[in-house]
Amino acid sequence: MANRYRTHNCSEAGRHIGRGISVAGWVNRRRDHGGLIFIDLRDRSGLLQVVFNPQVAAEAHRIATEMRPEYVVRITGEVARRPAGTENPGIPTGEVELIAREAEILNASRPMPFPMSDESGIDESVRLKYRYLDLRRPQMQQNMMLRHRVIKFIRDFLDARGFIEIETPILLKSTPEGARDYLVPSRLYPGKFYALPQSPQQLKQLLMVSGFEKYYQIARCFRDEDQRADRQPEFTQLDLEMSFVDEENVLDLMEELFTSLMAELKPEIRIVKPFPRLSYHEVIERFGTDKPDLRFGLELADVSDIVEDSEFGVFRTAIAGGGIVKGFAAPGCADYSRKQQAELVEFARARGGKGLVTMAIEGGQGGSLDDLTLDKVHSAVTRFFTIDQVREMVKRLHAGPGDLLLFAADKAEVVNTVLSQLRLEMANRLGLTDPNLMVFAFIQDHPLMEWNQEGNRWDSMHHPFTAPYDEDIPLLDTDPGRVRARHYDFVCNGYELSSGSIRIHDSRIQEKIFSLLSYSDEEIRERFGHLLEALEFGAPPHGGIAPGIDRLVMLLAGEDNIREVIAFPKTKSATDLMTNAPDAVSEDQLRELHLRLRAH
Ligand code: ASP
Repeated sequence: MANRYRTHNCSEAGRHIGRGISVAGWVNRRRDHGGLIFIDLRDRSGLLQVVFNPQVAAEAHRIATEMRPEYVVRITGEVARRPAGTENPGIPTGEVELIAREAEILNASRPMPFPMSDESGIDESVRLKYRYLDLRRPQMQQNMMLRHRVIKFIRDFLDARGFIEIETPILLKSTPEGARDYLVPSRLYPGKFYALPQSPQQLKQLLMVSGFEKYYQIARCFRDEDQRADRQPEFTQLDLEMSFVDEENVLDLMEELFTSLMAELKPEIRIVKPFPRLSYHEVIERFGTDKPDLRFGLELADVSDIVEDSEFGVFRTAIAGGGIVKGFAAPGCADYSRKQQAELVEFARARGGKGLVTMAIEGGQGGSLDDLTLDKVHSAVTRFFTIDQVREMVKRLHAGPGDLLLFAADKAEVVNTVLSQLRLEMANRLGLTDPNLMVFAFIQDHPLMEWNQEGNRWDSMHHPFTAPYDEDIPLLDTDPGRVRARHYDFVCNGYELSSGSIRIHDSRIQEKIFSLLSYSDEEIRERFGHLLEALEFGAPPHGGIAPGIDRLVMLLAGEDNIREVIAFPKTKSATDLMTNAPDAVSEDQLRELHLRLRAH
């Protein structure tokens, strides 16, 4: 049946010059030139200029005088080429215009709380309060369409490879992924609660026991943790699990998926192939973090062995106390002023470091190290080092004349935290973070467990279902901290896109891991009894991964926060400004749920 509102989209007008069409959408802008009225009509497809000429259609022109921004209108007219010299190359329909014959206002609009044109600088809380209007802005429409295309691509790709999509429940039992659970009280069972899944982890493993072999789901996950720019209390993962696979099979699949997704959706962005595969220890050593931005070098190097015998007390004490001295070179930054250097020191302090030692090597870039003398080494601490020690440090940092060396000395974690962030800061300052390059990489061989000092216990680095390497299993009894996990992280440009692992499919090992993680026998039975039992009924070897869709789309959209690619996100403090959630509930509802609120 013909559509009574429109025959075409705005963006199709260019293909119908000389013909009559009807379009419908929103008034983006109105210009009244006395005689003529111009309207930029906007629909999802784009903009189209409409001309109302009282000589051509007096009634339509009268109606146009009433149109205001964001009024919803329908217009019928003829598409014409714009008069020479008035074309607008800025929009796809810039060569044509619609000469209105008939117009109808379908709905009015109150004045907008912010402009619809793509201007930044609108306060985010206003955008979130009026999210339905914010989503009307072309930039947000693009982001949502990109998200749709990413998910559609993933679904088609996996379907073609024999994966099946299976939905798993939202009302579930607690699943440990290292965060707090969102709980839902039960009306039918006083005092009992469902937990929203932190991920479908156990269910996808159970689906492997069921024999599905290749599962995926575009899954919503819920984690009640402190928010950061790239976190949301609920977020979306491509959750995936496969039977009869090793690490390489899962990583190869990911590499193929992401390579073809990039080629299809973002061909203008360069990627590096094959995706680098690095060990956890190597990336901590070279970049100070397990989610390195590999678009640039600025690699860290440990100089502890060079400086441990130097005259410089700060370095010596740090090393003697079990710490390390590490640094990197900022190329061409030897001419940084005192003030600029002080900023860097401040940057390090704000990230938990005690400070930073800076050392500027005088001379043009590319100069020879043999000519280096101590009077060319500008630093508050030059006098504590011999020229040989300085040369060694410069060499270790792959630096040279013209560079600024930056060192931190402390416990290894502090040094790595500070320097990894400073490395990013310097890359930004030096313009090394190319927005048209995405370097995907896999990080492997993490420790299975890490010691939790406060809790005086072992914690899983990933989650408790991750398999240890077979050859490391004896270490579970003797030195659990040295057991390597069959875990992999998938990172891109400094973001962790996903984690995954080959899982434990032997119930005895799974039980052993639970007890090493200090779960009591009773807790193991209560929380994981179903899984342990399932592993005893012919569980196949299996593994999987779960790339975060929000972060991926954020990177592809060139945005720097995931709220820009989620239709209705929460604020950083986990509230919804549009509906005002979370909110109080009535006394009746509480009673029905057998709940009473505590005073504090
Ligand atoms: N469930 C894990 C997570 O959400 C991913 C995985 O191991 O597949 O991080």
